[in-house]
Amino acid sequence: MAAPPRSVVILGGGTAGWMTANLLHRRWSEHGTTVTLIESKDIGIIGVGEGSTPQLKAFFDEIGVAETEWMPRCNATYKAGIEFEGWSDRPGFERYFHPFGTEVDLFTQPKFFFATQARRTGRDIPAHPDSFFLAARIAREGRAPISPPNFPFSVSYGYHFDAHLIGAFLRELGTGRGIQHIDARIESVELDDSGNIAALIADDGRRFEGDFFVDASGFRATVIEGALGVAHRSFAENLFNDRAVVAPTPHGTGPIQACTRATAKSAGWIWHIPLTNRIGNGYVYSSRYIDDEDAAAELREHLGLPADAEVRHLRMRCGRIDRSWAKNCLAVGLAQGFLEPLEATALHIVLATVRAFLEAWEKDGSEPFNDKIARRYEGIRDYLVCHYRTAQRRDTEYWRDATRMDRLSESLKGLITAWFTGADLRQEVMRQGIAGYYGPMSWHCMLAGYGNFPDEAMLKPPGPDIPPIDMAQVERFVSGCAMNFPSHCDALDRLGEGA
Ligand SMILES: Cc1cc2nc3c(=O)[nH]c(=O)nc-3n(C[C@H](O)[C@H](O)[C@H](O)COP(=O)(O)OP(=O)(O)OC[C@H]3O[C@@H](n4cnc5c(N)ncnc54)[C@H](O)[C@@H]3O)c2cc1C
Repeated sequence: MAAPPRSVVILGGGTAGWMTANLLHRRWSEHGTTVTLIESKDIGIIGVGEGSTPQLKAFFDEIGVAETEWMPRCNATYKAGIEFEGWSDRPGFERYFHPFGTEVDLFTQPKFFFATQARRTGRDIPAHPDSFFLAARIAREGRAPISPPNFPFSVSYGYHFDAHLIGAFLRELGTGRGIQHIDARIESVELDDSGNIAALIADDGRRFEGDFFVDASGFRATVIEGALGVAHRSFAENLFNDRAVVAPTPHGTGPIQACTRATAKSAGWIWHIPLTNRIGNGYVYSSRYIDDEDAAAELREHLGLPADAEVRHLRMRCGRIDRSWAKNCLAVGLAQGFLEPLEATALHIVLATVRAFLEAWEKDGSEPFNDKIARRYEGIRDYLVCHYRTAQRRDTEYWRDATRMDRLSESLKGLITAWFTGADLRQEVMRQGIAGYYGPMSWHCMLAGYGNFPDEAMLKPPGPDIPPIDMAQVERFVSGCAMNFPSHCDALDRLGEGA
């Protein structure tokens, strides 16, 4: 087992930098490792990225922080999944919910898989995912995905949070635990004779030496690309979106739903992320199909904002660097790669990267680690590409191009073929070994959720070979389970009371 480095220097104080600093400090400080984080207040952070997967819960659990400590400080809410709206114009499939998993799904999921296979092969059996999954019901009813103490099944969930406040929280936590924090603007990187990083040099001449470095400098990728020259692989050929325009809005009068909403628009989609004090909104689009002003106008119109309402424009670079760990440097966050935010996976990848890195440091070194991270990016990329490829709308050039785009990986071709030929999709996901990125439930929900089935007029009734499903029984079961869950507002109030 390799000894931990004596000193780690992290460049970047965005969410990725502070998550990494806290994780490395947690694991290595007892061995005497010092962790220093350098950031430039003048440069600042990107300030978006307000939705998570359940991995963020795993992160806070790992660094020993309770929800009552961080959630109220970050205006955070619970997230049971993502609702996709307007991605399909097939009747009955105008929206669907991509749920985070629960143990209750073990009872309903087999029925759902059976239903989708029967419908794919021409039987008139209801196969919309929302009826089968508890998380979808919890969000729709304005509940929180928090299991009451007497509920015997576990439920996984993510969060929404304010990107600036979570950074501030993690900074305060980390510095309180012994992480050194320095405000400096790094101007150059000094390499030693073997090509390793020796020091980061600030614009005022300060020199920061370390044994190991983390590049969390955002899209600038100052160290990993700038100094070490690791190549960036773009995903632009099959993920078109490269811009975002964002604007917050106040809450309306209804309950705060425990989900992100992703609404398809003329050249991309708009996110809707409810925090306790505001809603975060952003239009993710492709500059090949719409210009910045028209995108801003479409966002304002969607939100009911006046034509001169202030918005913020962002550029995105989808892709990943060739090697996340090169020489004595690990890249995390936007410096490492970025997949457009449709499934809110960026912070999920930060945690997966740091965990895999710590394991690799102790065991097998950088090569297997880099392969593992590259496969994760590509696995998630394929799932995102599948959203666009199998969406059922063709009303603009953007959607016509997205739905006939043929630059698909072999893995994704295999999955799509399995679905449309009536084969067992679960088996195909397992055969390919990709369930660690998205499992069979997620693939089924997406493909069924957009209504990728034969036309209704062509469906035959179920028969003795393929029996119908008792949907009333499924409904009773799912709604009976959902009734146990508190309202989202009550759950958030209880956090504020420190319960
Ligand atoms: C439109 C959009 C929507 C997104 N939505 C989601 C989402 O819903 N969920 C999700 O998980 N992720 C999302 N992301 C990604 C998310 O924003 C980032 O993964 C997350 O904020 C972490 O960013 P970061 O820390 O890597 O970079 P940044 O926040 O950009 O931080 C970079 C840091 O490096 C410092 N720095 C850079 N250069 C220097 C230098 N030379 N000297 C000193 N300091 C320097 C900066 O000061 C800053 O502190 C989204 C991204 C975009 C663009």
